[in-house]
Amino acid sequence: MADKLKPAILIISDTASQDPSSDRAGTALTATFAAEGLGNWEVPVTKIVPDNVLDIQRTICDWTDGEDFFNLIITTGGTGFAVKDNTPEAVTPLIHRHAPGLVHGMLAASLKVTPFAMMSRPVAGVRNKTLILTLPGSPKGAKENLEAVIKLLPHACIQAAGANSRSIHVGGVKKLEADAGVEFTDGGHSHAHHHHHHDHSHGHGHGHIIPKAHTSPSERPQSNDPNAGPTRRYRTSPYPMLSVDEALQVISEQTPDPTVVEVPVTTSLVGSVLAEDVYAGEAVPAYRASIVDGYAVIAPESPSTGPSTKGTFPVASVSHAQATSMPPPLEPGTIARITTGAPLPPNANAVVMVEDTVLISTTPDGTEEATVEILTGDIKPGENIREPGSDVALGSKILRKGDLITAVGGEIGLLASTGTKTVKVFRKPRIGVLSTGDELVEHDDPKKLEGGQIRDSNRPSLISCLTSWGFQTVDLGIARDTPPGTIETSLRNALRGVGTPGNKNNNNEGVDVIITTGGVSMGELDLLKPTIERSLGGTIHFGRVSMKPGKPTTFATVPFKPATSSSGDPSAQQERETKLIFSLPGNPASALVTLNLFVLPSLHKLTGMGQNTLILTLPRPHTGLGLPLVSATLTHDFPLDPKRTEYHRAIVTASRSDGRLYAASTGGQRSSRVGSLAGANALVVLQPGSGKIEKGQLVEALMMGPVVPRE
Ligand code: AMP
Ligand code: MG
Repeated sequence: MADKLKPAILIISDTASQDPSSDRAGTALTATFAAEGLGNWEVPVTKIVPDNVLDIQRTICDWTDGEDFFNLIITTGGTGFAVKDNTPEAVTPLIHRHAPGLVHGMLAASLKVTPFAMMSRPVAGVRNKTLILTLPGSPKGAKENLEAVIKLLPHACIQAAGANSRSIHVGGVKKLEADAGVEFTDGGHSHAHHHHHHDHSHGHGHGHIIPKAHTSPSERPQSNDPNAGPTRRYRTSPYPMLSVDEALQVISEQTPDPTVVEVPVTTSLVGSVLAEDVYAGEAVPAYRASIVDGYAVIAPESPSTGPSTKGTFPVASVSHAQATSMPPPLEPGTIARITTGAPLPPNANAVVMVEDTVLISTTPDGTEEATVEILTGDIKPGENIREPGSDVALGSKILRKGDLITAVGGEIGLLASTGTKTVKVFRKPRIGVLSTGDELVEHDDPKKLEGGQIRDSNRPSLISCLTSWGFQTVDLGIARDTPPGTIETSLRNALRGVGTPGNKNNNNEGVDVIITTGGVSMGELDLLKPTIERSLGGTIHFGRVSMKPGKPTTFATVPFKPATSSSGDPSAQQERETKLIFSLPGNPASALVTLNLFVLPSLHKLTGMGQNTLILTLPRPHTGLGLPLVSATLTHDFPLDPKRTEYHRAIVTASRSDGRLYAASTGGQRSSRVGSLAGANALVVLQPGSGKIEKGQLVEALMMGPVVPRE
């Protein structure tokens, strides 16, 4: 049969990933498929990864998310209770529709063999169009589990694959069902027979593969269901803890590629990255220009080829830098007064600076120079002249794709001097900033605080930081935790660009990135994750990071379908866009640290940074994205956290006497203490360890602001 189902086997084992020859489970499972025969299965593809959540998730997504998806993924290993066993934790968040029946079937079969089956924590379900099963790592257990369900799998896979699986031999479905002993009676599926010619939107397929409805977000029980109340909330986070590097990797993968726009050359270009090479449309200078104040002369190549410049000459004309027309040609035996930057008269070939001359006579009214004596005969042709195009030649490449238009001013200057009217750049993202929490009060609210109220400090502090990076921000105000739904409304309106009370986003332009603070801890009013998943249909890519401060940092993407623009062609199909949501912890120090650490690299990627050819040739970590990393010497001992990487708020100074950088703490590092960031210009990166790291040690520091000089 031409059209067989495609299985893949993922072997999850630290040992086998180091020595593939030690794998036996993969071999046993491949043999099980071969023994099953029946022409249903292709030969399985196999891959080995270590017991690492991200490796597992990446492989599975590779195998499920593309056009070329596999019908079945069997994992083996990592389902036990050992600390490193995390296969169920890796697979569960990827599953769109759970299949507890298959889990029961496998466990029931294994329990007949051994009570140790209870030590396995299998999960099963469908992601997109692929069925996923997690089997134990022991070859025997894996084989028995697979054998218990394999007869049913073709039917399940075909149903899961839905409409796009025409490549599967549809005529064979009845036979597959018969093989599996799961043939249906006509009565149970009669509606499909009646409707399948004109209604392809629902029902089961009998010899006809019909599209299935996508899961509704409520069918993907990942985060807390906020309607369930405090007694039913999760008491530990269901999200695996990622390292900072893993989190940054996920952010980089999920951040869309930048889009190109053509914009006029104005000062608001600062912070943009060029999306194309730029060539000079005009030469600089456009004419032969003097580089000094003095007198244009006709200088001989050598004393034998013409009269010397030394002597007294009539001043025939004047050329000013502001001249709108060219000066008249210079007659031999005369000179022309000229100012810096002014065009040379035709015939003149050099300029004598005013310091090398004396005034001999004036016009009768005494207001103008009549004759001037030049004191030197050493003037060479070309002296004190800029030739046309000698600064920038017409048509030469002045800036390259990937170059950043900096606030220093050099790039804008080049574009302006060559008369460049528009350039193609990567569009800078618009970023909305939303605070969440019932306790929050506007920072400038004149009323005295009462009860558990606190001032919203995160919004002004994040918006200032984003603005200083050159990004356009939208103040989305405060969303209350109660009544439910306000966070959802705020997020939706921000994406659509609709203004709501307390949300100053009134210009009907949606944002590309939303940054929220608060609401990502473990309280029953921590609504961000459930809202993103259950109401917006978004995907939480991570919800915990092993760092201090900033552990609950959450990153999600949401699909967004822009409304068809009023002016545009209504028949034009709008592409779905991916919007990014960074839900940062509410504590002020955590919010600002995670903004710098996680949001900035993503914004840089969206802005097209890191594409500069120079940066691409540098070794990591010089990605050109995120904060610049330097090394600094500690001026005192720093305590270490035993488990988490710490980002210690510090002041980095540059010593004028020894040229080295030094780092000192800004004091108390409690994550609620905004003051730990006042005056800070750096985050000292402290890897986990016991005790302290001593004064004089060299550490890495991420620079948030300019280095401060010291003696
Ligand atoms: P949450 O993540 O909502 O539990 O917030 C953690 C802590 O950060 C709580 O003490 C909040 O009151 C505080 N917090 C949340 N949002 C803000 C904000 N916008 N400004 C200052 N503090 C905040
Ligand atoms: Mg809160």
